Amino acid sequence: MLLDLSRLHGSREHLERTFQPAAFPQDEEYRVATPVHLSMDVEKADGDAFRVTGRISARLELECSRCLENVEAPVDASFELRYVPQAENRADEPEREIGEDDLTTAFYREGALDVMELLHEQFVLALPMKPLCAQGCRGLCPVCGENLNRTECSCTPVWEDPRLAPLKGLLNREKEN
Ligand SMILES: [Zn+2]
Ligand SMILES: [Zn+2]
Repeated sequence: MLLDLSRLHGSREHLERTFQPAAFPQDEEYRVATPVHLSMDVEKADGDAFRVTGRISARLELECSRCLENVEAPVDASFELRYVPQAENRADEPEREIGEDDLTTAFYREGALDVMELLHEQFVLALPMKPLCAQGCRGLCPVCGENLNRTECSCTPVWEDPRLAPLKGLLNREKEN
């Protein structure tokens, strides 16, 4: 969904939208599990900048970083962004003053703000670095790949001292001879 910034009514516009999970493109990191609610205010700022504040609530589904099972992550995030037009050619653009009002800078293109991109960026910011299904998740067996939260496998994880590996090769060779 693109929001045409040139068609703002007055200097401020309030938006309430609900997006169905199917509206979101496939993403490697998460899946949108329930409709996403967005409440947002767009306000004209200095020059061609816009101040965008709002709140997102959603439920995302991620993979547990240890056992790869699905984990639900509620997202309830508020944001405050400063949108400036994206330069056609970044190389010609002098460095922008970053952080002049402590707002995170985002870019709009051809007069329009990409709402789906805004949501995606907020989701990524809200995602945990290492999602876990449970604090004590035991992960997958490195030998057979079984989910150790559900089954006990009979593999004995052997840790080989890498310093002994050449020695072992030597022993094997002796056995062959
Ligand atoms: Zn897990
Ligand atoms: Zn195993």
